[in-house]
Amino acid sequence: MNTQNNLQKPFLYFDNAATTPLCPEVLEAMMPYLTSQYGNPSAVYRFARAARKGIEEAREQVAAAISAQPGEIFFTASGTEANNWALRGVSDAWRHKGGHIITTAIEHHAIDHVCKGLAKQGVEVTYLPVDKEGFVSPEDLKASIRPDTILISIMWANNEIGTIQPIADLSAVAREKGILFHTDAVQAVGHIPVSVQDLPVDMLTMSAHKFGGPKGVGALYIRKGTKIDSFLYGGAQEKKRRAGTENVAGIIGMGAAIALAVGQQEAEHKRITKMRDTLIKRIEYAIPKVDLNGPRGENRLPGNINFSFDYIEGESLLLLLDMHGCCASSGSACSSASLEPSHVLMALGVPHEKAHGSIRFSLGKESTYEDIESLMEILPKHVRQLRAMSPLTEDDEIL
Ligand code: PLP
Repeated sequence: MNTQNNLQKPFLYFDNAATTPLCPEVLEAMMPYLTSQYGNPSAVYRFARAARKGIEEAREQVAAAISAQPGEIFFTASGTEANNWALRGVSDAWRHKGGHIITTAIEHHAIDHVCKGLAKQGVEVTYLPVDKEGFVSPEDLKASIRPDTILISIMWANNEIGTIQPIADLSAVAREKGILFHTDAVQAVGHIPVSVQDLPVDMLTMSAHKFGGPKGVGALYIRKGTKIDSFLYGGAQEKKRRAGTENVAGIIGMGAAIALAVGQQEAEHKRITKMRDTLIKRIEYAIPKVDLNGPRGENRLPGNINFSFDYIEGESLLLLLDMHGCCASSGSACSSASLEPSHVLMALGVPHEKAHGSIRFSLGKESTYEDIESLMEILPKHVRQLRAMSPLTEDDEIL
């Protein structure tokens, strides 16, 4: 990693689950479409054909990455939009059948808040509980299905605690009962193997900026034949299912980024998992009274580390780390401005005080062992410093 400490680049970047740096190869692929190739992809003249061709190649790259057909990929302006589309589009298309959706207590707000909005419109939502490591049980899912259930939406991997769900088993339950299955795979795609070929997944959400692509572009995979309403109305883009002039450069960047990420996935998965486990061990060895949130081992995202530090406020620790140019996150990036403890940690049964003292360190392509060394030079020191100031600290021996 670049260790220059200036305003452009952080010294220590441990927030890859919030977003990843744009890969230089991706920027290169995007550049012509930000400069000379400015034609509107819907236009009929030759000049615009490069943009159309670029979009269709990107669609093929995204489809190949998850073993889908290109015609099943629909570009959106974010993972958030793709999630909104899946939930609202199915809810609108199936209103005649019923209005019951099943999801989980640990979804990203881009699912959770949409469900709350739908509930105000009369849709009933069941939030499945999770165990203390964040896993949803297929038996609980089976038991929650009703005759009027129209959709099951369960995330592939959790953004805060890294839990990878048993998606094969969960989607099999949905298929057996003939219910549509959507998964928010924003944290999974590009990091762990994701294929819709062998799994009965009907819709799947992706977001480019989580795997080295640009921000503001995502995609929804919709299995051929799935009944779902269009999301945005207007022009005929995306087969009239998502109107609006395409973010050409963004889409081309998403295609380039996903191809690159999937190509490097196996090696990166190994490298980053090893680094993750090293950092977990180092923190547990150097700092007393810490709890790892989420599972250990292969059912945890390779780059995810989430610890609760007793007797401290996560936000205070983040500010101290920031003084060293170190970027990490407390709770999910989107809710870090809120004083509420993370709904994900609450769902695991983590007590309030521990949830408030939790920090996520997320590793990525540019992370190195030197980063871990540098973090371990500052982290234990600042945890001790905050504990020394805290009226909650009960035990002098940990200072
Ligand atoms: N879903 C999950 C699991 C996420 O982690 C995020 C982003 O943090 C999103 C959805 C939203 O994606 P986007 O930032 O593209 O709107």
